[in-house]
Amino acid sequence: MSRYWSDAIRDLTPYTPGEQPKVDNLIKLNTNENPYPPAPAVVEALNNFDTDRLRLYPDPDCGVLKDALAQYHKVERHSVFVGNGSDEVLALAFMAFFRQPEPLLLPATTYSFYDVYCNLYNIDYQQIPLTEDFRIELSDYAQPNGGIIFANPNAPTGRALPLNEIEALLQRNTESLVIVDEAYVDFGADSAIELTRRYDNVLVIQTFSKSRSLAGMRVGYAIGHKDLIDGLERVKNSFNSYPLDMLAITTAAASLQDEDYFQQTNQKIIDSREWTAQQLEQLGFEGLPSATNFLFTRHNTLAGAELMSFLRSHNILVRHFNKPGIDNYLRITIGTQQEMEALINTLKQHPAL
Ligand SMILES: *Cc1c(COP(=O)(O)O)cnc(C)c1O
Repeated sequence: MSRYWSDAIRDLTPYTPGEQPKVDNLIKLNTNENPYPPAPAVVEALNNFDTDRLRLYPDPDCGVLKDALAQYHKVERHSVFVGNGSDEVLALAFMAFFRQPEPLLLPATTYSFYDVYCNLYNIDYQQIPLTEDFRIELSDYAQPNGGIIFANPNAPTGRALPLNEIEALLQRNTESLVIVDEAYVDFGADSAIELTRRYDNVLVIQTFSKSRSLAGMRVGYAIGHKDLIDGLERVKNSFNSYPLDMLAITTAAASLQDEDYFQQTNQKIIDSREWTAQQLEQLGFEGLPSATNFLFTRHNTLAGAELMSFLRSHNILVRHFNKPGIDNYLRITIGTQQEMEALINTLKQHPAL
């Protein structure tokens, strides 16, 4: 704290990311990173990268990446916005669209960066409770609002909404923008990107961090109506002309070329997820069905915090949220099959399991 801090920053409660430990030999199942390396096309793009180009500023419009994304998702290039991780895309979108007289509506349990942005920008918001079985019930969002945001699949619950429920929301909620954060969509949910071709009140945000193994490159994007993208460009160009560096633009575009590798690694993660869920059930855990690369699960007798410390003492990191209603749950990222077997074997060493 400094006496030079403004009142606004004194009142902030910043987001706390999961731990990135500096020691080796840890099994890291705490931040939903992908356990498999980026696609071979990414490695090749890096190996062929001409370092002399680094003298120059990158393309401020990230044309190579926007073209690749437009082609991949079969949308117009003017429907694509890219940013430095989807966290940045979200931050710019909150600024562009959600500073409204009516409150933003969001699930009471969801990605915890959303309320951080609300506090940063002084956006009034209202948290809508999940159902008892942790589902988002979109009919609860039928009230005056300055925007709606949710993650689909949701985090940290892992549950997904079907597309027809999202479409029905877009038909009802015509006076404000709906943002669907699809960070985990490639692990088993349907993307709302197809709805962006028919509805101008939806913006879909995706990331290269999870299903494309590029968390370290920081690349995210939004797809929506051209006028929404123009709004995001106005904010971006009032803040930083070059949020994506050349390596990020080049490698992200390359990763889109390797569809087989993408499908294979996603399938491996899905298979390990289902195997792990079954094993956990046999050990007395009950979990929610997951359409993501993580499991949200609790034990029927042991507390979440205790299990997290037990795993930590055996060099396995998982995420635990000290929040009412979910404090007995663990969020366990799906690693390699070998890592998941180590997790299960370690849990079996717990005296109560
Ligand atoms: C991981 C995650 C993000 C952020 O992803 P980056 O692109 O790495 O910034 C956004 N939303 C949700 C729901 C996430 O889980």
